[in-house]
Amino acid sequence: MTRTEVVARFAPSPTGRLHLGHAYSALFAREAARAAGGRFLLRIEDIDAGRCRPEFDAAILEDLAWLGLEWPEPVRRQSAHMADYAAALDRLDGMGLLYPCVLSRKELAAALSAPHGPPGPGAAPADTDRLLPRAERARRIAAGEPVALRLRMARAAALAGPLAWRDLDAGEQRAAPEAFGDTVLARKDFPASYHLAVVVDDALQGVTLVTRGADLFEATHVHRLLQALLGLPVPEYRHHRLLADAAGRRHAKRDGAPTLRALREAGRTPEEVRAMVGFGGAGR
Ligand code: GLU
Repeated sequence: MTRTEVVARFAPSPTGRLHLGHAYSALFAREAARAAGGRFLLRIEDIDAGRCRPEFDAAILEDLAWLGLEWPEPVRRQSAHMADYAAALDRLDGMGLLYPCVLSRKELAAALSAPHGPPGPGAAPADTDRLLPRAERARRIAAGEPVALRLRMARAAALAGPLAWRDLDAGEQRAAPEAFGDTVLARKDFPASYHLAVVVDDALQGVTLVTRGADLFEATHVHRLLQALLGLPVPEYRHHRLLADAAGRRHAKRDGAPTLRALREAGRTPEEVRAMVGFGGAGR
């Protein structure tokens, strides 16, 4: 029997400089590929036009190369692949699984927390098209207000039936995407969302092992559902721990975690930085 080649990837968003948490995640993916004699890919997840910046994109490549990573194949940038996401959206739309939502985040939050409003505070949004009077909704769409496209979760989950996915560390998981409610698959400002793009890209790039932080574990339930609906292959998963600093806080851009550039400018070597995140040692 021939075994499928392992293809792993690192998929950062160019919304800031890479920090130690990213170094860990990138090296984790690279090592997962290397340990299996497979390939390592780099993808830039730049669909959030408001937060992504070209200079951060360039900085990611520079920082990763400095760290000693290599990605022999061309980098895939999501912003250049709208047609792929549009095709996936068309397919889901053809199955009657999408609907346009004009509500802003604020309006949605207000509607969901209204005393008698459906379905109650904290609940996942479902049927957001019912939160506005039908005529008002039609008027806003006709007036050209930006719309997001949401997945009819209950219908989609029923159509797909029971699904499972495998996390190589946590074991077999029964997919439970319903908790996400009618999740957005096309944003108002870009005709795709993280969930849609990541699933389409992993399939198109032939990724067989998705490695990423434990904060995205739950999202995998939605990804598994989308794979089933779109007829895509199902990769295996590993959700790694989130690196914490000496004070036990998770490394994050917003907390001013030291960037790889700052460490480099302070005279740290790539070997030292790799060792700081637990990927030191001979032969690297
Ligand atoms: N672009 C995502 C992030 O930077 C990672 C997505 C993934 O690995 O699936 O958090």
